Amino acid sequence: MLGLMQNQPLLISSLIDFAERHHGEGEVVSRRVEGDIHRYTYKQVAQRARQVANALDAMKLQFGDRVATIAWNGYRHLELYFGISGSGRVLHTINPRMHPDQITWVANHSEDQVVCFDMTFLPIVKSIHARCPTVRQWVALCDADKLPTDSGVPNLSSYEALISAQPNTYSWPQFDENTASSMCYTSGTTGNPKAALYSHRSTLLHAYAACLPDVMCLSARDAILPVVPMFHVNAWGIPYSAALTGAKLVFPGAGMDGKSVYELIESERVTYAAGVPTVWQMLLGHMQPAGLRFSTLRRTVIGGSACPPAMITAFNDQYGVEVLHAWGMTEMSPLGTLCTLKNKHLTMSDEDKMKIRLKQGRSIFGVDMKIVDADGKELPWDGKAFGDLLVKGPWVVAEYYKGEGGNPLVDGWFPTGDVATIDPEGYMQITDRSKDVIKSGGEWISSIDIENIAVAHPAVAMAACIGIKHPKWDERPIVAVVKKPGMEITREELLAFYEGKTAKWQIPDDVVFVDAIPMGATGKMQKTKLREILKDYKLPGL
Ligand code: ADP
Repeated sequence: MLGLMQNQPLLISSLIDFAERHHGEGEVVSRRVEGDIHRYTYKQVAQRARQVANALDAMKLQFGDRVATIAWNGYRHLELYFGISGSGRVLHTINPRMHPDQITWVANHSEDQVVCFDMTFLPIVKSIHARCPTVRQWVALCDADKLPTDSGVPNLSSYEALISAQPNTYSWPQFDENTASSMCYTSGTTGNPKAALYSHRSTLLHAYAACLPDVMCLSARDAILPVVPMFHVNAWGIPYSAALTGAKLVFPGAGMDGKSVYELIESERVTYAAGVPTVWQMLLGHMQPAGLRFSTLRRTVIGGSACPPAMITAFNDQYGVEVLHAWGMTEMSPLGTLCTLKNKHLTMSDEDKMKIRLKQGRSIFGVDMKIVDADGKELPWDGKAFGDLLVKGPWVVAEYYKGEGGNPLVDGWFPTGDVATIDPEGYMQITDRSKDVIKSGGEWISSIDIENIAVAHPAVAMAACIGIKHPKWDERPIVAVVKKPGMEITREELLAFYEGKTAKWQIPDDVVFVDAIPMGATGKMQKTKLREILKDYKLPGL
């Protein structure tokens, strides 16, 4: 017997329709590439998203055609999110931090027909357009009078000129909710990038889940600042969840430095911010020396890399901001786990609460997870056994775009490439990427643990731990460290700092001071590059 409820497909267009109708006056504020602040409402987002859809129709784009963006977080990008996917085309967000050759590769692989870009990225477009034969229209996200006349880019138009010629009425097409809506290429640290191809259904289910109180807890009372970029995994789905809840959205544009982010948080009375640890490091680095305080910020979700304990403590104790530690990946839309306490934890000491907050958290309903050993046998949830972490759920990839890399699943589960423990309460803790874990004398050392201890030292800005080949122990850890400006610390002082904080055999064999640690396109440390830089390094005494 079938249920007798209405069967409406879960479509992205319904989010912006809902936002317009039920919280049309909700604000969307953007710092523009031009430097000024732009302010309007969800009603206007909806109107202009319909103009975008009409413009794509006028270009004779087919259902399912890919339309790319190379853009910061801003209102025009938001309109493209809804206009492209809502009209049945596939939004392909391109990460501008990739090398131009890689950008060319992904644009060709996805066969983009149109590329919309912020003027900041005109140099990229100039360097790649001749190598992108599928692109028939380049769209600069600017006013008509700002369009450069001497760029040499063919078929270039201004976004404002393009959409202003279109009516703001449009009837969103209805189609199967499993239709592709957007795509994002993984960073591709090894080999060519592979794309996760999200569907309307996966995006809407993820958007609902993200708002839950034990997930990101988003509501109409929030003013959200997504510092996480819309060019990578849809800014953790925040644009969709914000439209769903009616939360105010505050977009930072190109201004990701500590000063710009701080000023926006204060001037727009932001209550909630989302970003990777490196961004928050810059924010704290700006605030701490100047003795600045937050007036309205209450919560921040931090993920993408392990959030160091020192950062959680600084936000919590010095600024009264609750840190939600989150874990996920491109292949998971991206949210997998969030760390929030349970009722039984509320009476714990601050120290014990902290031990929980450091973990990556509990599964969101919609993501099932397990850990397995090298033979694929499931390991116990005892908080000690660690193994490969596998996930499944309706917003986890089933396969990559164009079948690249073959079938990624193992008995229906997606191997994340992370190594983790899960405790009896269901809290998962990442110990490492499987390729970064250090094997010493048959035991594993978590590079994340070693890095966390180093960055807890007041003179350390950043730390990366890697394994170095050792004739007896197989591998031994060393830690590469960037000092905070104007601060001093010696190798011996840092090694002494490890005493009592971890088992003796896990203490690194050496400290290497470096000017910078190579960072990838998504703000993560690139240990493969660091290993290349240190390829001639010799362990002391060998
Ligand atoms: P994204 O760039 O969206 O984070 P990627 O697919 O590039 O997604 O990277 C996902 C990987 O990042 C995860 O598999 C994991 O190794 C790492 N990661 C993400 N969040 C965390 C976290 N909170 N702690 C530790 N590692 C994390």
